[in-house]
Amino acid sequence: MQIQQTQTTSRELIERWIVQKVLEGKTNQELEGTMFVYGNEAFKLQGTANGALDIKEQTVSEVVVFRKKDETEPANICRACGLDYSSFKEAIECCADVD
Ligand SMILES: [Zn+2]
Repeated sequence: MQIQQTQTTSRELIERWIVQKVLEGKTNQELEGTMFVYGNEAFKLQGTANGALDIKEQTVSEVVVFRKKDETEPANICRACGLDYSSFKEAIECCADVD
C-alpha cells in the first residue's frame, strides 16, 4: 500500500518535471537519459520508438547521492519536487497543497 503510493508520487513528480522542462523549450531528445532519484528508487528517461519519453524504473537496492561541496544549490527550488522557479514565493507555493 505504502510502496504503491510512493511509486505514484515519484512518477507524478517526474511527469511534472518533464512538463516543466518541455515548457522551457527542451526537446524529448535532450531530456532522454535523465536519471531521477527518489528515496531508494531510481528512474531513467528513455526514448521510445515513436519519439516519446518513457519513465523506466531502474533496479537498484540502495541509492547513495554524494554532493560536491562546491555544488551550488538553486535558491528557488521546491523542496518537495525539485522544480526550479524564478521566485522563492513560487517555489514554496509549488507543492504547498500536497501535504
Ligand atoms: Zn513542487
